[in-house]
Amino acid sequence: MNGLMMQQPLLISSLLTHAERHHGDREIVSRRVEGDLHRQTYRELAARSRRMANAMAMLGVGFGDRVATLAWNGHRHMELYYAVSGSGAVLHTLNPRLHADQVVWIADHAEDQVLCFDLTFLPLVEAIAPRVKTIKAFVAMTDRAHMPATSSVPGLLCYEDLLDTSSPAFTWPLFDEHTASSLCYTSGTTGNPKGALYSHRSTLLHTFAAALPDSLNCSARDTILPVVPMFHVNAWGLPYVACMVGAKLVFPGPFLDGKSLHDLFEAEGVTVSAGVPTVWQGLLGHVEANDLSFSTMRRTIIGGSACPPAMMRAFQERHDVQVLHAWGMTEMSPLGTACTFKARHDTMDAEGRFAVQAKQGRAVFGVDMKIVGDDGQALPHDGKASGELMVRGPWIIQDYFRSEGGSPLVPDDDGRGWFPTGDVSTIDADGFMQITDRSKDVIKSGGEWIGSIDLENIAMAHPDVAMAACIAAPHPKWDERPLLVVVKKPGAALTRNELLAFYEGRIAKWWTPDDVVFVDAIPLGATGKMQKNRLREQFAAHKLPTA
Ligand code: AMP
Repeated sequence: MNGLMMQQPLLISSLLTHAERHHGDREIVSRRVEGDLHRQTYRELAARSRRMANAMAMLGVGFGDRVATLAWNGHRHMELYYAVSGSGAVLHTLNPRLHADQVVWIADHAEDQVLCFDLTFLPLVEAIAPRVKTIKAFVAMTDRAHMPATSSVPGLLCYEDLLDTSSPAFTWPLFDEHTASSLCYTSGTTGNPKGALYSHRSTLLHTFAAALPDSLNCSARDTILPVVPMFHVNAWGLPYVACMVGAKLVFPGPFLDGKSLHDLFEAEGVTVSAGVPTVWQGLLGHVEANDLSFSTMRRTIIGGSACPPAMMRAFQERHDVQVLHAWGMTEMSPLGTACTFKARHDTMDAEGRFAVQAKQGRAVFGVDMKIVGDDGQALPHDGKASGELMVRGPWIIQDYFRSEGGSPLVPDDDGRGWFPTGDVSTIDADGFMQITDRSKDVIKSGGEWIGSIDLENIAMAHPDVAMAACIAAPHPKWDERPLLVVVKKPGAALTRNELLAFYEGRIAKWWTPDDVVFVDAIPLGATGKMQKNRLREQFAAHKLPTA
């Protein structure tokens, strides 16, 4: 039909072209593995990405081929984001915290052709190189001066040499926006890891939605420091958002301790950061122990696990840093909800607003949500009924890469499917979703749900508790009852009875954990999440007191 808009596919390369043309002198600052602080502009990022696209073609990477990375957050990783996806290949961000056996399994499953890696991961690459089946070229993401003198990796290439010897002339190709752009495997606490394959269209739509004021709220005036790794769901999409809005970017590389992060926040004028609660614990610990403050940081995006309310209070009340609680999944690119206020919350008192913020938030446009009971029927959005959270939308997977595990979708009467999140939640009348548990992790006592996350949050608010996990333990009468597994802070003399007394008045009496066990460490998965399935195995025979 005549008189319509231009036919232009939504491609990742358009983000880079925009940043180069309209925010060309905005900076990308990277703390690098080599120990230096590197600075470049978006103009330089674009030029280097074009050269890298030529280099990849030289290495034989074709349309749709997978190029893997084992890398921290840094400018070279960002160049690969654009060089690989922009030229029509697929960027596969491998998780370097996985065991070598798992990395081999995933690289083989993805049929990766090239592997680019930060020097930190040379020992891991040396361990996997003789075993991986499809990788033809290994590229160390460094310059000639820092190349390892010797290495068992066959034909090891140098990233900066590749750039120097590649032509600067490259035109980003136009192709179907449904083409695959990047690949990320889920942490896989059960069964084999599964790949979520993103497309150019899904990534662009996700980027528009993520940048919105009621989502991650990023603008050209922001300086964004993503602590969330670029190997975990594309650092929640921030490397794309930054190009779209023209924000300054600051990458911390491998230096994620509280002091390094705080120094970088202050030196570079960071206004927004993003990461999982574990990381913020280190940062807050450092800031409070040294009586420091945040002079430019205004907002921190916390997700990946529930943000403990005690942490939210610490940021907001003691440091004047607003917490944005967000929820999502690898399968959702990842953004599903963000917890920003509606107009009617303006007149609410501080405690009321605080209670709203502790929720995971409202659906961003593009994500549709519902909760269902055991019978699959939709439950009311009344803030009380809790059921499995189901989602659908243009940046949510239809099935896993190579159809692993079959279709995960649950069909609806309208013929379309819903993706079951495995999270159990309520949704209130304002649309705020709050996770109460996970279906793979639930505690069901006498047929009623007990929210393990609430119980953990209370334990975490106790000054002697460093980490707490609440799991279901078998009980002869109630089927299951909550068991609290706790790591004490160094030197703390906390007892079981003292901790249980701490629950009084803070929660319904029947929700109080039946027992507490103190451990030296709680097993964490590759992305820093507590592996409750392992704890459940460990304490499967634990005898709860029955009195
Ligand atoms: P992943 O795919 O590794 O990012 O994990 C996604 C899962 O992490 C979700 O299904 C939730 O169970 C959990 N998750 C993510 N964000 C939050 C949050 N803000 N609060 C509680 N759980 C979360």
